Amino acid sequence: MAFKLNYQGGLAYLTIPAFEKTGLVKHGFSTRMGGMSKHPYDSLNLGLRKDDDKKNVIENYRLFCKALSINPNNLVASDQVHEDKIHVATLHDRGKGIFKQSDIKGIDALITKDRQLALVTYYADCVPLFLLDVETPAIGLAHAGWRGTVKKIGQKTVLKMMKEFGSKPEHILVGIGPCISVCCYEVDELVVDSLKKAFVYFDELIKETGKGKWKLDLVLTNRKQLEEVGINPQNITESGFCTSCRNDIFFSHRKDKGKTGSLAAVLQLI
Ligand SMILES: [Zn+2]
Repeated sequence: MAFKLNYQGGLAYLTIPAFEKTGLVKHGFSTRMGGMSKHPYDSLNLGLRKDDDKKNVIENYRLFCKALSINPNNLVASDQVHEDKIHVATLHDRGKGIFKQSDIKGIDALITKDRQLALVTYYADCVPLFLLDVETPAIGLAHAGWRGTVKKIGQKTVLKMMKEFGSKPEHILVGIGPCISVCCYEVDELVVDSLKKAFVYFDELIKETGKGKWKLDLVLTNRKQLEEVGINPQNITESGFCTSCRNDIFFSHRKDKGKTGSLAAVLQLI
C-alpha cells in the first residue's frame, strides 16, 4: 500500500497507513500546498536555511504541526550534510534547529525512544526514510540522497536503533517517502562508480539511457539495503510519488533547477 494523501486545515500532507494503524505515532510528510511562502518557495516551504522569509517558514511549521496535532515546541531538526551520522535525540533537544540554536551538527538521521519529541528532516528529491520499532517503541528518520544512500545511512540507522534501543529489525516498519524516482533520476559516471563500490548488485539499480548516462532507482537501492539488515519486505511502504513528476505537489530540486523550497518529514511517538 502506498502513502495516503490527507487534506487538513487548507494544506495537504501524506501519511503511512501502516504507521497510523499502530496508534503509536503522529507523523506526516509535507507537500508544497497550503503555506505562506512566495515563489519560488510557494507555498509550504519548511526549509529555514533557504533564502525565504523566516517568519513565513515558522508560520508554515505552525500550520503543518496543527494539521498533524503536534505541539511545535516538540520539534527537533537535523542539519543534513549528505553524510551518514546519526544523532540519538532526547527531550533535551526540543526546539533545536527550528526555534532554538542547535548543537546537532553534521547529522543526517535522528532516532529516539522519547515520547513527545517530534523528529524533523527535510527534502526536495532526496529519499525520506521513516522507521518505527513497534515493540520498544522507538522511531527514526533518515535523509538519503544518492550520497547517503551509497553510504548506507538507512542500514546504519537500523543498526543504531538495534544498538541504542535493543530494537529488532523484524519489529521495524519502514516508510520510503516521496523522492525523485527512477523515471526522472538521471545520473552520471561519478554516481555509478560509487554505486559499483557500495553494492555488488549495482546493475539491478541502474538502467543505461545513453552514453555516460543512467537512470538510478534510489527507492530500490534503499529498500534492498534495509532488507539486507533484516527488515521484512512486507513491512516497507513506498510512497508511490515521484517529486519531479509531481512537481505540482512537491518541491523538486532538479525540476525547479535548485530554486525551490523544502518538504519535511515529521515523526513523533505519542
Ligand atoms: Zn518521475
